[in-house]
Amino acid sequence: MCIFCRIAAHELGARIVYEDDDVVAFHDVHPQAPTHMLVIPRKHVVSLNEATEADAALLGKVLLVASKVAQEQGLGGSGYRVVLNTGPNAGQSVFHVHAHVLGGRGMGWPPG
Ligand code: AMP
Repeated sequence: MCIFCRIAAHELGARIVYEDDDVVAFHDVHPQAPTHMLVIPRKHVVSLNEATEADAALLGKVLLVASKVAQEQGLGGSGYRVVLNTGPNAGQSVFHVHAHVLGGRGMGWPPG
């Protein structure tokens, strides 16, 4: 079973910061910034490529929860980056759609 589905089902440990019937947010196990969280839908959607119109509200909720947890972690003023890696060139390694929420340091643009 997908590791993020297992985290959402509480079968695999994670530092969960928010959850509801649709969405779970937790700290990334290998943080790339002082604050690095992931926001996932409970529904197993492989990547943005597989998302459909039926997932529109769910993906919107993922973004709103990203904003909520970022602000709860004190990133609202300094800012943060929300990233959805999709496919090999973007380095997607877990095939359950997830939004990275990164903050607590300055970040360059364009990303690497
Ligand atoms: P991506 O490379 O965009 O697919 O991102 C996957 C992210 O999931 C990486 O930043 C990993 O560090 C993170 N990750 C993998 N396994 C776990 C886990 N068990 N708990 C929390 N984060 C994880």
